Amino acid sequence: MSLFDLSGRWAVVTGANTGIGRAIALGLAEAGADIVGVGRSAMTETAADVKAAGRRFVAIAADLSQAGSAAAVIGKALAAGALPDILVNNAGTIRRADSLDFTEEDWDAVLDTNLKSVFFLCQAFARAALAAERRAKIINIASMLSFQGGVRVPSYTAAKSGLAGITRLLANEWAARGINVNAIAPGYVETNNTAALRSDVERNADILKRIPAGRWARPEDMAGAAVFLASPASDYVHGAILPVDGGWLAR
Ligand code: NAP
Repeated sequence: MSLFDLSGRWAVVTGANTGIGRAIALGLAEAGADIVGVGRSAMTETAADVKAAGRRFVAIAADLSQAGSAAAVIGKALAAGALPDILVNNAGTIRRADSLDFTEEDWDAVLDTNLKSVFFLCQAFARAALAAERRAKIINIASMLSFQGGVRVPSYTAAKSGLAGITRLLANEWAARGINVNAIAPGYVETNNTAALRSDVERNADILKRIPAGRWARPEDMAGAAVFLASPASDYVHGAILPVDGGWLAR
């Protein structure tokens, strides 16, 4: 068997309709995995991509900002026939405002989706994996702001820094029980999430000149790291936050 072969494995990918989630779902499917896409918008294109790669696609509608959504999502995935093999916590949101003006609503919206729901998805998925006695892989999508402070995104920085922390904590608790918990920290990626940054000519130029690779990332740039962290190639990798950033953090 190839080190990177995901044949016979199921991957639950949140926020699979667009951007990084869509690219990761397709990358995992091309490596052999069947996909459960989770999101609040239709996932038509992702479903078509995955099916064109010869894999199955199951869609689960969920608003992950809602309390209790995590356990329901994993329950529905299992009921649809998926196995608790791979979980990619990709769904995320961002709110931008000066910290002096930042509202409690913008704090809660980001923390609920980007951190609270991720923890409870990990919990529900790990319970299922342990009950099924399957070796499992969890991949959280972190950020440069898991390492750096950023500006005007206080709830996002809090959530992504917290996400790095719980990735390490869960790795400590579950590494010996057959569950790998790791994260990918994307650099600056061309998606809806960064549309505001890219349309600000000055910010765009500042960001671009700091990236050693000399370009923004494309969503597909995240797929290889996801296949690695989902596959037997990473069986001894636990609690790592893997930057895929064109060299941004090395600068
Ligand atoms: P995106 O294109 O905006 O995708 C975000 C995804 O999350 C969408 O599928 C979105 O669904 C989903 N989502 C947001 N809130 C949700 C909710 N309450 N319930 C269910 N799904 C929800 O942005 P992206 O850049 O691909 O972001 C994916 C992940 O990468 C996020 O965790 C983000 O923080 C992280 N990231 C992005 C960058 C970057 O430069 N783009 C860098 C570092 C980390 P809808 O389409 O329905 O809103």
